[in-house]
Parts: sequence; C-alpha cells; structure tokens
Amino acid sequence: MSRSTIGVIGGGQLARMMYAPAIKLGIDLRLLAEGPDVGAARVFKHVTVGDYTDEQTVRDFASECDIITFDHEHVPTSILRHLESDGKLVRPGPDALQYAQDKLLMRERLTTSLDAPAPVWQACADADELKAFGERIGFPIIAKASRGGYDGHGVWKIETSDQASIPFAEALSRSAGEKVEIIGEEFVDFARELSVIVVRSPSGQAVCYPVSETIQKAGVCRETITPAPGLSDEQATRITKLGLDIADELQITGVLAVELMQRRDGSVVVNELAMRPHNTGHWTIDGAHTSQFENHLRAVLDLPLGDPRARDPWCVMVNVLGGSHEDLPSELLHCFARDPKLRVELYGKQVRPGRKVGHVNCYGDDLDEVRGRAEHAARYLMGEIGMKGER
Ligand code: ADP
Repeated sequence: MSRSTIGVIGGGQLARMMYAPAIKLGIDLRLLAEGPDVGAARVFKHVTVGDYTDEQTVRDFASECDIITFDHEHVPTSILRHLESDGKLVRPGPDALQYAQDKLLMRERLTTSLDAPAPVWQACADADELKAFGERIGFPIIAKASRGGYDGHGVWKIETSDQASIPFAEALSRSAGEKVEIIGEEFVDFARELSVIVVRSPSGQAVCYPVSETIQKAGVCRETITPAPGLSDEQATRITKLGLDIADELQITGVLAVELMQRRDGSVVVNELAMRPHNTGHWTIDGAHTSQFENHLRAVLDLPLGDPRARDPWCVMVNVLGGSHEDLPSELLHCFARDPKLRVELYGKQVRPGRKVGHVNCYGDDLDEVRGRAEHAARYLMGEIGMKGER
C-alpha cells in the first residue's frame, strides 16, 4: 500500500524545513496550520488552516493523509488516540509524545524505567511543598510548569522561600485557570548545555548525531557547536547511549532531542525531551550527510535512515532573531559576498524583535574561524553590526 501522504500538524519553521526533503523523496506533505501566513503555510502546496486542539478539524485533516507527524508537541493526546483507534498512523504516537508534553511524566518515567541522570526533583502540589523542597535541598531552586512551557516560559529561578508562590500564580494565570503541576528541581549550576539528536524508525533502527553544545540566552537557543568542544569520546558515547536508550524505551518514531545540562564535574543530567526536529539539530541541514528533517521523514515512513555523521570537523549554527531589518532576503547580499560557504535559512516569518526568524550554518576545519563567520552573519542579519563589523 502506498503510504506517501504525510500530514504535518503545526505550521512553524520545523514543518517548513521538512518540505525540501519531502520534495526530494517524492512525498506529498500536507499541512494543518494555525493561520494562512505562518512560515510553513507560505511554502506547502496543500494547506488546511484550522485549530489543532479541535478534534473534528484534526480528524478531517488526517482523513486525507496516510501518516500524521508534527511540528510541535501540543496536539492533545486524546485526539491522537482517537486517530489511532480509527487506524491512522501517528508518528510519534501519543504514548511517546506525552513525555515531551509533560515534564513531570518525563521525570517519573526516565527515573523509574531508565534511571536516567536528573537533577534532584520533586512534584510540588502547592507553594508550601515547593518551599519545603527548597529548604530541604537549599535555595536557589528551579520551579517548572509540567506542561505548556517553551523557550524558558514556565521556568522560574526561586531564590528564597518567599518566592515559592510565584510559579503557581503565574502558571495558573497562563493556563486560563486550568491546574498546572509544578516540579521543584535542584538549581544545576551547569558548565554548559548539550543536546543529542536521535532518530528512530518504527522497525527499531536508530541513528544518533554527534553531540552538540548549545548556548541559550534568556531561555532561547542562540547557537550550537558540533561536536561539543572538549567532550571526551567516553562522555560522547555515554550521552549517545542515553539518547538511544530513551528513544527505544519510549518507542519514539522520528526525531528525539534530548537536552542536557553538563555539571562542572563533567557529568550530565537530562533537562527535557522534544519529539520533533529540533532547533539544536539545524546544523544537520548543511553540516551532516543526512539532515534531521530528511531522517525524520524517513523514520515516519519506516525507510532506512541516512548517515548522521558530520561532513566537516566543526559546524556552528547561530539563530537569527528579529532585529532592525524587516526585509531579510535583501540583506543577504553582504553576507554571501563576504562568505561564499555561508548557509542561510530564513523562516518566512514576519520580523518581530527577539523572534526566531532564521538561522545560519558555517562549517570547516577551524572552530574559531567557523564560529566567527557564523556569528558575524547572524549579527549582521539581526542589524547588530554593519557591513564592516562595526556596531
Ligand atoms: P523550556 O521548555 O521552556 O525550553 P526548559 O526545561 O528547557 O524549558 O528550561 C529552559 C532553560 O532553563 C534551560 O535551557 C536551562 O538553561 C534552564 N534550566 C532548566 N532547568 C534547570 C535546572 N534544574 N537548573 C538550572 N537551570 C535550568
């Protein structure tokens, strides 16, 4: 049976970046988008505009597709379970996806079934419990909403016991009155953050990309360096195994990104999981033999997966955030004239301050040189520096 019509739910840049490999693979990729002007809706041929939390909308969309996959993790699992009981292939399925939707479920599952390294954590029902947790392990602590967080929204650093009510009040107001569970976590004074991207197919084949160092500012990923500088082979192997074990344990189909924090003694703890192509894997588009987007589609179709190895010794990705330039394509002249090996991906989104509107990739033999080129291009596109590098 032909299984080549894939429906993607969510119209952001991740769906958009699936489109080029879908063309190459001859797949009919269709989109359920939040609005007609979102980044992916501007490039897909078949676009349905509708609300992904509305069961009938999702069902109608899915009825025209053989397989459903995602640009984000927010489709209610109840809807996905109904699709599965209608016989639709949902990849990754709701049983896996719930661990990317809910950080408390993720912490419980990874602790009980894999003994995966985690910060000290505890589910806290109210401010008193969070306060007691902080008093037990010592302030500062981190509080996290179990659901609905993104780019650092839903994560609070709690310095003293008086601040323990803040996450409950803010999470409640953000969730429109629906109760959100709060997790107390040890504040990890990490040396750096890392990410490992694994892709797994339903048959159980899995590949793992080299581990990246990720640099976040204000909760937003700004840069990745691959491979993570200074990571020993032994640490890289341990992290790779952890990623593969999680993908297998949760029976994930497609991309799994495991975000990690590396302590000053070199050990790592899992921060969170994402089950879709991930910002920290954008370097793979130009820097790896097979991109995370192509491998995600191959996994969704249960095709053999492509080579995840890097093409060059170093690859640096820098995100472009909205700045003073509104018309980004017209700013490419300087970037490309200066650096013929520079790769740029623009997301077709309206430029707003601080919003991710694109990324650049540079690769080569010398990390300082590669990083310098990537940062120059991104800062230029953000309007932070002029043509000669001046502020
Ligand atoms: P989001 O879902 O919004 O991306 P994360 O759980 O990834 O939230 O947390 C966002 C950032 O907060 C992380 O990238 C990390 O920098 C910081 N952070 C999260 N948990 C901890 C922790 N336990 N200790 C120290 N910093 C943390």
